Amino acid sequence: MTEFDYDLFVIGGGSGGVRAARLAAGLGKKVAIAEEYRFGGTCVIRGCVPKKLLVYASQFHEHFEDAHGFGWSVGETSFDWPTLIANKDREIDRLEGLYRRGLENAGAEIIASRAELTGPNSVLIKSTGKTVTAKHILIAVGGRANPHPALPGHELCISSNEAFHLAELPKAILIAGGGYIAVEFANIFHGLGVETTLIYRGKEILSRFDQDMRRGLHAAMEEKGIRILCHEVFEKIERGADGRLKAHTSAGKMLAADQVLLALGRDPNTDGLGLEAAGVKTGIKGEIPVDAYSRTTVESIYAVGDVTDRVQLTPVAIHEAMCLIETLYHGRPTSPDHDMIATAVFSQPEIGTVGLSEDEASRRFDELEIYRAEFRPMKATLSGRAEKMIMKIVVNAQDRKVLGVHILGHEAGEMAQLLGIALKAGCTKDDFDRTMAVHPTASEELVTMYTPSYRVKAGERV
Ligand code: NDP
Repeated sequence: MTEFDYDLFVIGGGSGGVRAARLAAGLGKKVAIAEEYRFGGTCVIRGCVPKKLLVYASQFHEHFEDAHGFGWSVGETSFDWPTLIANKDREIDRLEGLYRRGLENAGAEIIASRAELTGPNSVLIKSTGKTVTAKHILIAVGGRANPHPALPGHELCISSNEAFHLAELPKAILIAGGGYIAVEFANIFHGLGVETTLIYRGKEILSRFDQDMRRGLHAAMEEKGIRILCHEVFEKIERGADGRLKAHTSAGKMLAADQVLLALGRDPNTDGLGLEAAGVKTGIKGEIPVDAYSRTTVESIYAVGDVTDRVQLTPVAIHEAMCLIETLYHGRPTSPDHDMIATAVFSQPEIGTVGLSEDEASRRFDELEIYRAEFRPMKATLSGRAEKMIMKIVVNAQDRKVLGVHILGHEAGEMAQLLGIALKAGCTKDDFDRTMAVHPTASEELVTMYTPSYRVKAGERV
């Protein structure tokens, strides 16, 4: 044992912090992990996991409708929001228990308190007022919803945190933002029967995705009945005499709803963390810049996950934590690999994507081959649902390397995971072409698009 109380002190019990603490403790290191709220972090407690459960819930009304075409008569149906929320909460409690037990079994000390840095090797445990020391400190405190304080009436709005715990399902909701959270919640609430309007400042939703995915999803959402207003923002939110919220937009509209959800990005959770006292520098948004090995500007202090604002995704935080353990305790300095991260938007239909969009690829490469298919999935033939599936492969014409694959449609997220392996391995379009199709599936389209739909040369479609 060194002169320190701990080998590793982790601040934050989310995906990144828990993984690092569990692995380090499992190696026999003396580890403590402090969490002021609940173990599991944003992903488990108020993010990916409860969101996916709500997505499932919101899909049933379409399943009931689709059943008719397959000969089923579905009797009267009804939906009970409190039941869904209670069941979801029970599952989250179970998962939190697993996170805690994983830490305990590995031998990490759990500290149920806020912790703040007081120096390069010291941390104040707020609940006890005790200061402890550690050879290394890991900051894994994540992020929080941007409250958009510049918007008059923002305090009347909710974020995704509250959306998971509303006492009752609103009749109408307005959602600001065009990113993952806004789009996913718009589909969830609409699927549960809520009159839903999404308002986005840009030209088209999901600015970081391929154009075909953006336009295709926009059209599919409108077809379902979700109202999407682009090039528009909220200018003021106020409560009307009838108790409902009234939102004034930049286009001069006044929209009324029971809830207004702001999904305008997430900020690093670094306020009051004692970073200055410890000498850790922060960036413009309060994020903690780190080097290639997740080390902050202070030699003994590391940071992983959303707080570093590299790529705000759960698997990325976990990967960064695992690399850190390699670096610190296995003598193998390992820097996280942020290239070719497959990701999914759990909209309805889903988007699954890996690699470069057509626009991004055309900025980086001289000539592209674009393979694109748009078709009605087999299930929609009997259900009668007017839903299209779009698949797109972006290929570098020079060496036939597949640069990106983008899918809009059912199970696109599941497909993206597998495509992620193929693209990570550096496969070419020829590898796709010589892969036998799995029939009948939607994904067989990915290996049967033999001729390019079009080419892009010097940024121009030809
Ligand atoms: P995103 O960064 O995805 O989207 C933020 C949205 O808010 C963008 O459309 C942005 O517009 C808009 N915006 C930002 N500031 C303003 C403003 N001042 N006025 C108007 N609009 C504004 O963030 P989210 O909050 O949706 O999600 C946070 C993160 O969580 C994501 O980055 C993602 O990594 C992660 N996440 C991942 C999920 C998944 O993997 N399925 C699901 C949910 C979240 P513009 O595009 O013009 O910048």
